[in-house]
Amino acid sequence: MEHKIIEKSVLARVARFVLKSPNVAMVIGRTIHISGVKKEEFLQNRPWVAHELCHIRQFQEHGFWRFLWLYLVESYRHGYYNNKYEVEARLAGTKEALAINQEQQARSSPV
Ligand SMILES: [Zn+2]
Repeated sequence: MEHKIIEKSVLARVARFVLKSPNVAMVIGRTIHISGVKKEEFLQNRPWVAHELCHIRQFQEHGFWRFLWLYLVESYRHGYYNNKYEVEARLAGTKEALAINQEQQARSSPV
């Protein structure tokens, strides 16, 4: 999926502060803003990348401003964790983790 990554993003830094998290990735449109993590490290974490790519797809699906609005409404009503867009993105991350697990098992088991 078409995207770009901004390292040491000020936006992500603010989010880090608010969430009290050592590292944060956040998507605005097609851009992944990261803070507290290097681009190479982030890209190696496939489940995390899958999570953020899911948000990019959500932006594309609903449109930029509409998705921002829908996301805020969801967060307001259900909180960050139960926000359906976060639930969907977490699922994408979990699926990716399972895929990696299967790849590793396939590699380690004798043929
Ligand atoms: Zn998310």
